[in-house]
This record gives sequence, structure tokens and C-alpha cells, in this order.
Amino acid sequence: MKLQAHPLDIPYEFTFTISRHSHTHTTTVIVELTYEENGHTYVGLGEAVPSEFYGENAASVLAFYERLEREHVLADLTPFDLQKLLERFSALEGNMAAKSGIDMAFYDLQGKMLNVPVWKLWGLDPQKAPKSSYTIGIADLDTVKHKTEVALSRGYDVLKVKLGSPNDVSLFETIRRMAPHPQITMRVDANAAWNVKDAIDICQLLHENHVEFVEEPLKLTCTEEDYAELKTNSPIPLMADESCHTLRDIPRCAQYFHSINLKHTKTGGLSEALRMIHAARAHNLNIMLGGFGESSLSITAFAQLSPLVDYCDLDGALLMAEDAYEGILFNGSRFTLPNRPGLGVLPRSKVNA
Ligand SMILES: [Mg+2]
Repeated sequence: MKLQAHPLDIPYEFTFTISRHSHTHTTTVIVELTYEENGHTYVGLGEAVPSEFYGENAASVLAFYERLEREHVLADLTPFDLQKLLERFSALEGNMAAKSGIDMAFYDLQGKMLNVPVWKLWGLDPQKAPKSSYTIGIADLDTVKHKTEVALSRGYDVLKVKLGSPNDVSLFETIRRMAPHPQITMRVDANAAWNVKDAIDICQLLHENHVEFVEEPLKLTCTEEDYAELKTNSPIPLMADESCHTLRDIPRCAQYFHSINLKHTKTGGLSEALRMIHAARAHNLNIMLGGFGESSLSITAFAQLSPLVDYCDLDGALLMAEDAYEGILFNGSRFTLPNRPGLGVLPRSKVNA
């Protein structure tokens, strides 16, 4: 198996701001795994979506891939050797986004060789995919109003609002007035911005305004007692994002949260995400699939798991000004999984050719 990779620069449609940073564009890394068998050549696609917050960037992903090639880590594997791949990956520290790009390309190859979509390979019912939210990032009041108008005009009826700035209450109330309950479902993501007292107060306001859940309310420096206090006192469900990376985080998340948010960049791929979904169920946790700013390639890869989860936040490609790939197709907040083999993703240049 041969690995090739190149960076993909993608501009955001609107500058994207959350509680700890602001971005105008993002750089992901596109992976192509070429595998030959019985005279056929198959190409599996993947996308690594590195996050500086989790210690990766495009350069570190490319360096990781160069190391895989130099050390012949993939050379003797077939696309069905996932157990061997994951064992080899577990011997290499970190680089979860980079690993994820390879893991998803393995599934793409499997589906293409068997001529079935990955969701079908797993026996899933695509009708069970929940709606996806569309994210409104932090901005000044006028910009937030404009973004909300744009979101509603595009037919999105599930909004995820980023909070964690000094204007939290006015931003939230402005959006809620424009996007009323029950027509519009609203979720909130604080990206680890609040202390426990503020979190309890804001969760009360969110509850009165019919918010479905709040993601990662507490600062990551908060104590275990703070997490326990919020779980006892919050009137709305709490979701772990920054607190939930891999399988081993599930028991702690069950203690302090009601649900988890899975992302390629944290799990290291679809294989680990699948294990986490089943472990989360056993711990009575609800599950969301999320992401970062990315193309429809990695969004569609993660969406293969969507029939197994309760919520989706797969708007990563919708937030970008350009999308190099076509995969899941949106109609408002609802999306359809492609029926093509593998991940079912095509480069847009080929779709439009
Ligand atoms: Mg989040």
C-alpha cells in the first residue's frame, strides 16, 4: 500500500470565533492510499483535520506520513488489516488527526473493493441519521444577527451557538429571539469557558430558553468537585467535547456529563469512534458526531456512523467558503448519506466534469 498526501487550504465563509481563538481559514491534509490487487488499482481517500489545540498542524501531519513511508508502516498491509494498523498506530504517540486520515482511507478502500458504501458494510440504516446543527460562532451583535439570518434563510432548523465571551447573555438572547423555540432547536457550546458558578447561572438561562444541551461548560482547570457540582445543579444536559478523546475517557464522562461529542481529530479515526459509541451506550451516554472546519471528505467519513448516534454537528464543510469534495448532501439540517462505494466521496472537479 502506498501513501501520498498533500495539504488543502480552505477559507471559512465567515471568520470563525470560539471562546479561545479566531480563524479565517484552515489547512487540512488529504490522504491517498493506493492499493493493487488482482490487476486492479484502488485509491482510498482520507482527510486529516489537525487542531493546534490538540497539538497538531498540517506540517506535523505531513511529517507523520513521511515517517510512515520511511519506516514502511503501511507497506505490507491490505485494506482489511485494521487490527494490525491500529496496533502499529498505538505504538506511535499522539498524531490523532494524522492517524484518522489513514484509518478512514482504509474504510474507503474496503468499500471500494467490495463495491458497497461503508455504512452498508456495517449494516446501518441511513434513514436513522439525525439532523445536523449549523454553528453560529462568536462575533459582535450585528455580525451574529447576519449569520443567524443566513442560517435560517438556508433552512437550518438546528443551530449550535458558541458562547464563552463577555457578551454571552446578549448574544444568546439575540439569536434566540430570531430563532424561536420550538421551530428552531438550539444547542450551546461554551468551549470550556466558565467557572462553576457562572456555568450554573447560564445553564439556568439556557434551560428557560429550551436549549437542548450545553457542550463543555467548565474551564479545563476546574476541579473534580466543580464538575460534580455542575452535574448536580445543571437543569440541562451537559456534553463532553474537550473532555472526551478516546475510549478510556468514557467512564469519567459518564460521571460528569450526559453525552459526548466525537471528532476524528480526537478519536484517531472511525475504528475508535465506533468502539466509543458502543461503550457510551453501555454508560447511558448520548452521542454526537462533531468536527472542525474541514471538507466534505472527512465529514462524509464520520457521517457513515450517523445512524448510530443521537445528534450530529457535521456542519464543518458548510462553514467553509469552498468545498473540494462532494459527499453527504444537505437539505436544510437533514443530510443524505451517499450510496456510492466506500466513503462515497468524489472530488468536486470530477462531479462537475
Ligand atoms: Mg465543542
